Amino acid sequence: FSEVQNYDPDLAKAMADETQRQRDNIELIASENLVSKAVMAAMGSTLTNKYAEGYPGKRYYGGCEHVDVVEDLARDRAMKLFGCTYANVQPHSGAQANMTVFFALMQPGDTFMGMNLDHGGHLTHGSPVNFSGKYFNCVPYGVNSDGYIDYDEVERIAKECKPKLIVAGASAYARKIDFKRFREIADEVGAYLMVDMAHIAGLVAAGYHESPIPYAHVTTTTTHKTLRGPRGGMILSSKEFAEEHKLNKALFPGIQGGPLMHVIAAKAVCFKEALDPAFKEYGKNIIDNAQALANGLIKRGIKIVSGGTDNHLMLVDLADKGLTGKEVEKWLDAAHITCNKNTIPDDPQSPFVTSGIRLGTAAVSTRGFNTDDMDKVAEAIALIIDDHEANTEKATAIVKSLTDKYPLYE
Ligand code: PLP
Repeated sequence: FSEVQNYDPDLAKAMADETQRQRDNIELIASENLVSKAVMAAMGSTLTNKYAEGYPGKRYYGGCEHVDVVEDLARDRAMKLFGCTYANVQPHSGAQANMTVFFALMQPGDTFMGMNLDHGGHLTHGSPVNFSGKYFNCVPYGVNSDGYIDYDEVERIAKECKPKLIVAGASAYARKIDFKRFREIADEVGAYLMVDMAHIAGLVAAGYHESPIPYAHVTTTTTHKTLRGPRGGMILSSKEFAEEHKLNKALFPGIQGGPLMHVIAAKAVCFKEALDPAFKEYGKNIIDNAQALANGLIKRGIKIVSGGTDNHLMLVDLADKGLTGKEVEKWLDAAHITCNKNTIPDDPQSPFVTSGIRLGTAAVSTRGFNTDDMDKVAEAIALIIDDHEANTEKATAIVKSLTDKYPLYE
């Protein structure tokens, strides 16, 4: 950092301000986390200088002998962590991982099923503004009035539209996903099952969500959410399926050029951390903290979609309070609690306004928060929802007592 400070003080100031914001705020964005210094160090290394198009042992550039070791370490650890026989650690992001699988398993115009964005799916699961909805015909499925995936309805739609691929996985779904049932439905209609476990990958690694690996033909993920690695993506499958469907080729040269070797090194660090027994403890804390936060909100009269959570996240339903996600996100930010507005199932508001906020406990669990702390977080959130003008100062004081208790990046 001192090199940036000496060379580019304007940039250094913004970087230092962001670090300070992360120290001062309680981070509840469900897709974010706080990586270790080792993960950051791997990203800020000489590996960023290296072009390495291709794969270990089969590169289009010279001088790849050391980055081959890096990529092999990342792949081997990923396969060990998730218990599979194929891993591609090159996707620059989760969206790239998903695009790779779509182009490998479908032709443009083919029909697939994905979870409705309004019900918790991701943009790359068939949104009309995304490649997935533009190049492929998406028939969406969603949740029932209780906020749970309606598997019978998924089956009915699948029988009707005969998709080539079914995508299971979500960005804002708080309940366990029944991968076995999804695979049964896929088999019934002759579809491939792709599981996008981006949000829950860390919980799967720690053993707190059933693994999709035994059920999915192919699994995609990001590495930066509950898994707590660098920003990036990954594809997992069996060696046979990957070879038959040329998954490596679909990624490079299909949709990407040179891999980001410094990020792949950071993924290797992340997977080593996730293989450590301490990661199990972290996974348990995420779940316990999510339960404590949900219960703390519910007991203070705040509604949670589906009535609670099984994983790291929850959707707060603000509709019956006559509030929008947009305003509550802003008010919480003023009290140094960071979250994001989020649509709730069948939201009457637009995606820019919304009737909900999404809260997650991965980052606070990394920071060390316990269940008592989460009850205090719930109290601060409830104060803001109740009367933000009267209570911002009080909520901010609660936040400060917690952020002071758990110093960050010192
Ligand atoms: N898949 C899911 C379920 C996600 O929630 C996200 C990101 O939020 C992605 C894919 C895309 O990841 P990225 O932002 O790295 O492209």
